[in-house]
Amino acid sequence: MRDRIAARRLRSSVRSSRIYGEIIMFHHVTDEYVDIQISCRCPIKVFEHYLDDYRKRGFSFVSMDEAYEIITNKSDHSPFCVVTFDDVPDNVFTHAYPILKQKEIPFAVFITTDYINNVNPRSHEKYVTTEHLKAWANDPLCTVGGHTKSHPQLKYCPDPKTEMSESKNILETIVGKPVKYIAYPYGKHSSVSKRIQKIAKSTGFKCALSTIEAPVTDRCGKSLYLLPRIPKF
Ligand SMILES: [Zn+2]
Repeated sequence: MRDRIAARRLRSSVRSSRIYGEIIMFHHVTDEYVDIQISCRCPIKVFEHYLDDYRKRGFSFVSMDEAYEIITNKSDHSPFCVVTFDDVPDNVFTHAYPILKQKEIPFAVFITTDYINNVNPRSHEKYVTTEHLKAWANDPLCTVGGHTKSHPQLKYCPDPKTEMSESKNILETIVGKPVKYIAYPYGKHSSVSKRIQKIAKSTGFKCALSTIEAPVTDRCGKSLYLLPRIPKF
């Protein structure tokens, strides 16, 4: 209920704002069956179609750094799209990454560090490995971001600071550069309080992504630790 009211409020504020663009979210990109909710599994052709469609509609694909600059400096820009992935299963590396590379589209991966080199016990889906992350670290198209250590609902987690800071440290050790952005697991209003946003800031992240479904507008500079994001799959 709270999420619905908050989303309605956000949508009405969007109507009186300047729209900068959209941050879009994917999980799995695969044609194979994976034992997860179907809304998190994007067929490869559909993924490609989304990218082509955004381009056709005049969006330019930008990195998290570029989006951050546009949001904080209120700069003029054609509508932007940031492609993001959460969790992140290895089919993002094997299926989505070659398409993004071929189309020269920047993207961001938000990694749950406990999942690295691991297999989901329920779906048997493999997650990205240290090697995948090292390869991405060397590709300027890719931004590696945090998605906590164990993927809790941060608002109800006994130690949200450790969840955020440990995952940041682990990722920085692997990729050898600062990890500047975080996406909250279950990123709705009901799971992300003001306290959690303050902790994300004090942990050293420049901004944080929610799953509050709305475009990015000129008002988002005031809520950098609760940026909206549109789930696709
Ligand atoms: Zn997640």
